[in-house]
Amino acid sequence: MAEPVTFTSTYLAGGPVNYARVGNPTWTALEDVIGGLEGGEALAFASGLAAIDAVLTLVPPGGRVIAPGHAYNNTTGLLREYAAEGRFEVRAVDISDTGAVLAELDHLEGGRDLLHIESPTNPMMEVADIPALVSAARERGILTAVDNTFATPLLQTPLADGVDVVIHSATKYLSGHSDVLMGAVVTAPTERGRALRARMLNRRTLHGAIPGPMEAWIVLRGIRTLSVRLERASANAAELVRRLSDHPAVIRVRYPGLGAMIAIEVYGGAAAADRVCADVRLWTHSTSLGGVESQLERRRAQPAEVETVPEELIRLSVGIEDVEDLWRDLAQALGSPSRS
Ligand SMILES: *Cc1c(COP(=O)(O)O)cnc(C)c1O
Repeated sequence: MAEPVTFTSTYLAGGPVNYARVGNPTWTALEDVIGGLEGGEALAFASGLAAIDAVLTLVPPGGRVIAPGHAYNNTTGLLREYAAEGRFEVRAVDISDTGAVLAELDHLEGGRDLLHIESPTNPMMEVADIPALVSAARERGILTAVDNTFATPLLQTPLADGVDVVIHSATKYLSGHSDVLMGAVVTAPTERGRALRARMLNRRTLHGAIPGPMEAWIVLRGIRTLSVRLERASANAAELVRRLSDHPAVIRVRYPGLGAMIAIEVYGGAAAADRVCADVRLWTHSTSLGGVESQLERRRAQPAEVETVPEELIRLSVGIEDVEDLWRDLAQALGSPSRS
């Protein structure tokens, strides 16, 4: 049976929830599904960024946050904003350099500070050694969060490695059709996890970054096909990586060996990369990712992207189209004869 959508702002007095900023049955159905996939208990938010903001409220004033130098650009932007306001201090790290991150952990204080991980990172595709980082952080009592948007719970379940909070932009693979914004946090079904969840629930209720019930339903619908979408998109991505790796227009292919996100760097700088994005016809030139349709974007064209992302880097979100169609289009845009 499909889940009904509950449109209401209020509930009859005397029940567990009295007002719709506090809870909604369609959210609950979605939270059960996302929680089940991640092996924890989920809370839905209005967007991925609202979910990240809820996690950051777990850090008290004067605390420290370690985060990847290359993370989703608005995560970096939000951290910078809070740092500028003096709310907490932020240290950027190369999240794939385990030794460097472990060294930074020595400057953190347990019970106060946060290690925020994104893996693979957006858009540089760096991979963190989550089990190593998390076990070191836990020994020191440092809170850990993993943004699992790129990998999805089908490829990576960070709670199993002892991570405190898993974050999703459900806008991406979970919903999968580029038609909704939503986010979620997931915590472990433990006393520690439930305490964190209660604080983030409080944040959601008081700050009002709640999803609409229709949006929650759209994400529920999307998740029904997550595994088949991801399987097809990942197979397409692996094949495109193989072909891009010896394409003469391509300097470098960044692909961590899982999922359907790829980054390439092309010869000819920003102008050449812009031409590739303008010349595709089947691929969609747009920001965002994780939809059934293949999308690409030169990330530095976004004013908020960090300066260490190469100008000529194009992020590819591979969809579920026929891989030969995708390759023909990409190859013509890259400016050389289509080959396989
Ligand atoms: C898109 C994205 C976000 C932000 O999610 P929104 O739903 O756009 O608010 C956070 N993290 C990653 C890795 C993303 O790709």
